[in-house]
Amino acid sequence: MGTLKVKPSVTYCGPVQQPAVDLASLSLEALTTFFTSLGEKPFRARQVYKWLHQRGATSFDEMTDLSKALRERLSSTAVVRTVTKDLEQRSVDGTIKYRFQTHDGRMIESVYMPSPDRKTLCVSTQVGCAMGCRFCATATLGLVRHLAPSEIVAQVHAVNKEVRRNEGLETLRPITNLVFMGMGEPLHNFENVKAALALLESEEGPNFSARHITVSTVGLVPMIERFALETDVKLAISLNASNDETRSEIMPVNKKWKIADLMDAVKRFPVKQGRRVTFEYVLMNGVNDTDDDAHRLAALLKDVPAKVNLIQYNVNPGLGFDSTEDNRAERFRKILESQEVAAFIRANRGRDIAAACGQLANVDKRPSPAP
Ligand code: SF4
Repeated sequence: MGTLKVKPSVTYCGPVQQPAVDLASLSLEALTTFFTSLGEKPFRARQVYKWLHQRGATSFDEMTDLSKALRERLSSTAVVRTVTKDLEQRSVDGTIKYRFQTHDGRMIESVYMPSPDRKTLCVSTQVGCAMGCRFCATATLGLVRHLAPSEIVAQVHAVNKEVRRNEGLETLRPITNLVFMGMGEPLHNFENVKAALALLESEEGPNFSARHITVSTVGLVPMIERFALETDVKLAISLNASNDETRSEIMPVNKKWKIADLMDAVKRFPVKQGRRVTFEYVLMNGVNDTDDDAHRLAALLKDVPAKVNLIQYNVNPGLGFDSTEDNRAERFRKILESQEVAAFIRANRGRDIAAACGQLANVDKRPSPAP
């Protein structure tokens, strides 16, 4: 991995001479400044912010409590950056994978996973990914670009509308939990992810609780400290190996920051309420799933307030990895448990539609047409 470059959180589109402001990427404060610069009253900013982030408006025409003149003026200076549903695929287990098109024709994916006690959405933070994890389908795309804050939250707004419609719900925000584990490495796009988190947690917006949002990283060590200081949501580490040799082989990021560097960063992570660090460990047959791996993993996590999610690998044709069998996965879990490490085997959601962990690569496996 090279030097990490982060694009600014506000993006522009349209002719170079007259860039249109991406309003849905702005904080309420920045939106207020924008309206003041137009000579409008500050309360207009709050009105528009609520349209964008509570109701998920995708055009100025929907903002019916603004005058027609103001809506026309906004249309000439600003844009509502959104994403458009391109494809919907339904799994037999209730998971729905959405493919969305961005304003510049890029494809990203979001995965909705309903369960009896929660409605979780997994969002993407980049088009493609630069991290090159060898077992991951997204890595084969490379990094195309970062997503703007508006494009990250637009996935949430769009799926909220789908869930309301599909499940006949009236609540504005039926999704209860968010995980940043879709396409991309969130901490590689930290500024925009941070801005998106602030929008998602804002009271005038969707008002998600920080306890219900988890951001996953492969371990960009310097960014973990910033993440701890500048956000209040939960952290997950995508670990996937118990020693440097194996991890460097399957996750190139480990050549830059070794497991010891990563564990040091995690140990410095402030453990606030509900901020126990989650370690994701994808079990791959013969790669990282031996008894020795389990013992080494337990030793690594000694003294860390952690839990481990074990995920049996979802096979991606052509990548050359196999899934760990059920009995081996259970043995691995029991070894961790015997060393007093909380470990769970996670159900693989959406495996049949390539919506599971590490399978997001705009692959069309449509088993059923969208209703
Ligand atoms: S596992 Fe995550 S960080 Fe690694 S290549 Fe895939 S999307 Fe990127």
